[in-house]
This record gives sequence, C-alpha cells and structure tokens, in this order.
Amino acid sequence: MKYISVLGSTGSIGTQTLDIVRNNDDLSVVAMAAGSNIELLEKQIREFCPKVVCVFNEDKAKQLRENIKDTDTKVVAGMDGLIETAVIETAEIVVTAFVGMIGIRPTIEAIKAGKDIALANKETLVTAGHIIMPLASSMGVKILPVDSEHSAIFQSLNGENRKQIDKILLTASGGPFRGKTREEMKNVRLEDALKHPNWSMGRKITIDSSTMVNKGLEVIEAKWLFDVDFDDIQVVVQPQSLIHSMVQFDDGAIIAQLGTPDMRLPIQYALYYPDRKYLGGDRVDFAKLASISFEAPDMDNFVGLSYAYEAGRIGGSMPTVFNAANEKAVEKFLNRKISYLDITDIIRYCMDNHKKIDNPSFEQILETEQTVYEMIENRW
Ligand code: NDP
Repeated sequence: MKYISVLGSTGSIGTQTLDIVRNNDDLSVVAMAAGSNIELLEKQIREFCPKVVCVFNEDKAKQLRENIKDTDTKVVAGMDGLIETAVIETAEIVVTAFVGMIGIRPTIEAIKAGKDIALANKETLVTAGHIIMPLASSMGVKILPVDSEHSAIFQSLNGENRKQIDKILLTASGGPFRGKTREEMKNVRLEDALKHPNWSMGRKITIDSSTMVNKGLEVIEAKWLFDVDFDDIQVVVQPQSLIHSMVQFDDGAIIAQLGTPDMRLPIQYALYYPDRKYLGGDRVDFAKLASISFEAPDMDNFVGLSYAYEAGRIGGSMPTVFNAANEKAVEKFLNRKISYLDITDIIRYCMDNHKKIDNPSFEQILETEQTVYEMIENRW
C-alpha cells in the first residue's frame, strides 16, 4: 500500500489525483488540504477516510469539524494545519496541488520530513527553486513533476545521461488567442480567456495559459527541475497538445512523450514512478490524426513569455516578482477589476520597479510577494 497526502484535494489536479486513488486499491489517502471548499472536502472525507484534513480558512474549518463529527477524521486549519497535512508521518508521497505561493512552506516542510513530492504547484519552484532543489537533494527526496510538459521531459530522460542534454523543447498549445495581436486582445472578456482549446484546468492556470505566462512559469520550473540554462530551453508551439515535450541530446537525437491530453497520466506516473500502470481513456490513433503542426511562440504579442525568460535570467528575487505580480493581476482579472492586457502590464511595472535580492531566503521571498502586492494595490 502506498500512502499519500493530497494538498489542494478540491482542485482540478487534486480531484484527478483522487480519481486515480479511486481506481487503484494499492493507494490510500491519509491527509488532504484545501482552501475553503468544505462541501467537496466533506464528500472526499466520507469516501477516502483520511486521518487529517486541513481547511486553510479557520471559520470554514470550524464548520467542517461540526459537519463531520461522526467520522474519525481530524480537522486542522491555517498554515500550521497545512504543514501538519504535509508532514503526516504515514505519507510516503505528497501531491502538492495548491494554486499559488501558499504552497512554498508546506512543500519545504514535507521535504524536510523526507516525503517524496509529486509537484504540480509550479509557483513554488518558480519562486523558491534555489531553496527546494538543494534541500530535496540533501534529504534524498524525489521531486516528481506532475505538470504534463515536465513529466514528458522527465519520461524522455529515463535512462539518459542528463549531462548530454543539448536542449529542452517545451511544447505549448498557444492557448485560445494564438495568432492574435495585442491590439486584437485588447477587449478579451473573462469568458473567452477561460476557454482553453485542449485542457480543462483550474481558473488561474487557464488564464495563465491564455497569456502564455503559464509557459513562462514552466520555463523557470524546467530550469530548476532539470538543471539547464535558459538558453537551452526552447518553447515550441504545437497546437494539438499531442506532444507533451521533448529533449534533444548532444548527438541530435530527440526523444518525446506523446499522448492524448489527460492530466491523470502525469499524476499517475508521479505516484507510481518508475512503474507504469494501466490507465483507461482515449489513445492516440495515428491513422485518424489529421495533422500535427509546429510554430515558434509569438513573444512580441505574448509578452508574458519573454518577461518570464527575462525574470529567470535575472534570477534572485525577480522570478518571485514575476510570479507574485501575475498571481495578483490574474486574481483582479478574475474579479473583473482590470482588463486582460493589464495582466502583463502589471508584471512589467512590478519588474521595472523592483531591486533584485540575490539568493533570497524564504522570508525575503514572502516579503517580496507582499511588496509586489502593495505596489499593485497602490496603482490598480
Ligand atoms: P485549482 O484552482 O483547480 O485548485 C487549487 C487548489 O488549491 C484547491 O484545492 C484550493 O482549495 C486550494 N487552495 C487555494 N488556496 C488555498 C489556500 N490558501 N490554502 C489551502 N489550499 C488552497 O488549481 P489547479 O488544480 O488547476 O492547479 C493547481 C496547481 O497545479 C497550480 O500550481 C497549477 O499551475 C498546477 N497545474 C495544474 C494543471 C491542471 O491541469 N489543472 C496542469 C499543470 C499544473 P479550494 O477549492 O478550497 O479553494
């Protein structure tokens, strides 16, 4: 039996993780955590019987405690509670599927407790990769990527010598506005940005995919996961989302991972690595495949991607600024407080007004996040 903790169990990745657990009787959930969705959490508790769950929101936690008092599950709250679910003794692997920087501390604590990490929460690695990767290595902990692109790279590297990577070819669908100019994207409505052509995901990542900021976050994530230079990470637009990413080696060979767009595959791969298990669902039918096409990303109109490369190359606290500015801007766009193009304008403004801190500590990362939020609140 493999015991797991699912952080962000009520979200898109969290519910798909539980779907895998539902279909495999050698997996058992011992802890779960979420922000405030106690209705879904209650259903999950009754189905999976975890030992402990955390609701970040204290009032909601109190309410849930009352609602499930006929069960044996303990309900905890706040950051201390998130950490309790991340370090629970019985868990062997922790799925980090929170959205945003809230995931940094629980992830660090889980690694310190010796847990392998199935990492979906990319914002954690973007902002604190320089802390997380060396810590994981010193603890002998595996960081198993859940993001489909990074899982594809990870799979393509199986049995290969990482010193012989020439470059990583990170694929992108291009999102719903591929081919549009900034002028044409001026009046994009929330409803349009929430329609991804190939993937069904949480709201924040869906907006990030439409601006290609998500691809930028993934470039920085890839840098930390695979220890490559930014010059050796090339984004390739592949609109059908069939090739999930590729690695080119020194001899010119390219190894790719392909499949239908289904997040359960990379989640399951992370949970069972290095084994593969049966997974139901559609298969690629090459006889029916009409076409597969490639193009270069349009960094002049999708400026978020070029800002990500810039922030990554500058390093230090700049990726935190890029990420925090995006998190706040997307939240405002989701609440209809700003227009679509304001998202990347806000990122630009915050990057231009930040003085980089080298090798920031965890506290400095959180301080930078707060400064960025204040900068945005004062102006937008
Ligand atoms: P969702 O918005 O669907 O889910 C987010 C989860 O985080 C929910 O369980 C939510 O709880 C929880 N959460 C939010 N705020 C807090 C908080 N303060 N404390 C505790 N829990 C909190 O996001 P996704 O599942 O789409 O994405 C999760 C991560 O995975 C992101 O980093 C994303 O970039 C990454 N990812 C997602 C993919 C996808 O297909 N969805 C693909 C690749 C990567 P509640 O429901 O109660 O608010």
